Amino acid sequence: MKNNSGARESLNFIEAIIEEDLRLGKNEKRVHTRFPPEPNGYLHIGHAKSICLNFGLANKYNGKCNLRFDDTNPSKEEVEYVNSIKDDIRWLGFDWEDREYYASDYFDKLYEFAVKLIKLGLAYVDDQSAESIAGQKGTPTQPGQESPFRNRTVEENLDLFERMKAGEFRDGTRVLRAKIDMASPNMHMRDPMLYRIKHESHHRTGDRWCIYPMYDFAHGQSDYFEGITHSICTLEFEVHRPLYDWFTQYLAEGSCRPRQIEFARLNLNYTIMSKRRLLELVKEGHVSGWDDPRMPTISGLRKRGYTPESIRNFADRIGVAKRDNVIDVALLEHAVREDLNLKAPRVMAVLNPLKVIITNYPEGQVEELETINNPEDESMGTRKIPFSRELFIEREDFMMDPPKKFFRLAPGSEVRLKSAYIIKCEDYVKDEKTGEILELHCTYDPATKSGSGSDRKVKGTLHWVSAPHAIDAEVRLYDRLFNHEDPAGQKDRDYKEFLNPDSLKRLTGCKLEPSLTNMKPLDKFQFQRQGYFCVDPDSTNEHPVFNRTVPLRDSWTKMKDR
Ligand code: ATP
Ligand code: MG
Repeated sequence: MKNNSGARESLNFIEAIIEEDLRLGKNEKRVHTRFPPEPNGYLHIGHAKSICLNFGLANKYNGKCNLRFDDTNPSKEEVEYVNSIKDDIRWLGFDWEDREYYASDYFDKLYEFAVKLIKLGLAYVDDQSAESIAGQKGTPTQPGQESPFRNRTVEENLDLFERMKAGEFRDGTRVLRAKIDMASPNMHMRDPMLYRIKHESHHRTGDRWCIYPMYDFAHGQSDYFEGITHSICTLEFEVHRPLYDWFTQYLAEGSCRPRQIEFARLNLNYTIMSKRRLLELVKEGHVSGWDDPRMPTISGLRKRGYTPESIRNFADRIGVAKRDNVIDVALLEHAVREDLNLKAPRVMAVLNPLKVIITNYPEGQVEELETINNPEDESMGTRKIPFSRELFIEREDFMMDPPKKFFRLAPGSEVRLKSAYIIKCEDYVKDEKTGEILELHCTYDPATKSGSGSDRKVKGTLHWVSAPHAIDAEVRLYDRLFNHEDPAGQKDRDYKEFLNPDSLKRLTGCKLEPSLTNMKPLDKFQFQRQGYFCVDPDSTNEHPVFNRTVPLRDSWTKMKDR
C-alpha cells in the first residue's frame, strides 16, 4: 500500500499478515473481521481499541466486519448490555450493516458438530464433577490423568449427550469433553470441556437449551461459520489457538478458515478495565452508573465530553503491540484536548465568582463587545458579549499580597479583561470577621477597548462575566477515578482503596456568559483558561449543568515528577 506522498506506508504487524495473505490469494482474497463482545457489561476504552482495529482493517482492505455477541453463558448476559454495545459502536462511527450475529444463533450447528466429534471418537461424556476434572488436569510440567469415563463407546456417549440435552440430568452432573491428549504440554488441549448442563433461560433462546457450549467450543467455530478470515484477539488467547485449530480441522470444508492473530490488550494507567470490577463500582455505588463520566466506558467518556474522533485518533496513535504494556492515560486526555481545540467554541465561565464593580463605568450602561469564537478556526465566527458596571471574575485571580510573578489582580495592579478593557484594582471590601474578600472596586480605561488599536499593554488577561447577564450553573469538575497508577496491581490492597476522593467536585452558583442558554446535551465548549466542558444530559434551562471533560493542562504529570 502506498500513501499519498508515494512513500511506502509502514504497516503494523497485523496489516503485514493480512497483506501477505492477500498476496498469497488466501480466503478468495477476502478480508473479513469481527468484533465479538460478551454482553455482560458495557464497552470500555479497551474494547474501543479492538473495535477501531477490526472495523478499521475491514475499511482499509475493502472488507467487512461483523458484530457478534458471544452469548454462550446464559447467567451473566442481558439485553441492556446488547443495546448499550450497539449504541456505543455506532457512536464511535462504525457500521456492521446487516451483520449482527449471536453465538447463540449457532447452538444447533455447534450441537451437531459435537455429535460429529462423538461419532469420530473424539468426544465423550464425563460423569465426574468439575472439581474432580480440575483435580486431574495436572500441571504444565506434569501430565494430567485420564478420566475413568474416557473410553466409553460411541453409542453410550451419543445416548448420554442426547439425554443431557433432553434435560434428564441436574446441573454439574455431567459434561461433554473433547478427547485430545491429557499429556499435552498445552493445558488447553487436555480434554477440554465442550458442553455443560445449565438449567437456565437464555436471553435469546429462552428455555430451549439446558446444555450450553463453553466459550472455547463456540468462539473459533462461530468465526468459521461467518467466514471470518482474520480473527483478531488479545494475547491471552494465543494458547487457545491450537485448540481452535484442532476443532476447525474436523469442521471446515473447503480452504477458507479463520486465522487467529493476537495483539496486546490496551492497559491504561490510573484506570481499571476489568468488567467484573467496573460492575462492582456500579453495584456498590462508587459511581452513578456504567455511564458515570469517570468510568472508562465508552458511554462514560461520551458523557464526559469525549468525541468519537478523539477516541479513534487515540486508538490509531497507540498502534498495535505484540507485548503487554501500559499506556499513559494522559495520552487519551491529550487526544480529546487536541480534537476539541479545533472544534469547541471559547466561552467565558467563572467557576468561583468574585464580584468586581467598575466604579467609573456609568450605571445602567451595557455594551455589546465582539469576541471571536475560536482562534483556531476563523469560520466559527464571532459573537457579542455584554459588558456592564458589575462583573464577576475568578476568585483565585485576585490576591491581596501577591507573590512577584502574579500577573493577575492585586491592590493597585492592572489586567486586561478578555475582549474588553484594561482595569485597575483600586480597593477591595473585606469581611472583617472571616477575612473573605466580598468585592473589588476597579476603574477601567475607556481608551483600551479591545480591537480599538490601543497600544497599552499589560501582562495578564482574565476571563469575566457581566453580573446582571450571567447564567447560574452547576459545574461538575471530574478528575481521574483512581489516584494510583496501578490500582489493581497493589499487593494486599484492594483497588477501591485507591479511589480518588476528589474525582468529582460539584460547584454551584457558577456564572456563565449569557450565550450559553438553550444548549443541547453534550454540546462542547472551552471555558477560557479552564478546560473543556460539555452540557450534561440532565441539564435544563432552569438548572444548567456542565461536565468538565479535561482541564486545559495536565496537572498529574507535574505531580508525579515532583
Ligand atoms: P471478559 O473477561 O468478560 O471476557 P473481555 O474484556 O475479554 O472481558 P469481551 O466482551 O470478551 O470482554 O471483549 C470483546 C472483545 O474486545 C474481545 O475480542 C477482546 O479481546 C477485546 N478486548 C477486551 N478488552 C480489551 C482491551 N483492554 N484491549 C483491547 N481489546 C480488548
Ligand atoms: Mg472475553
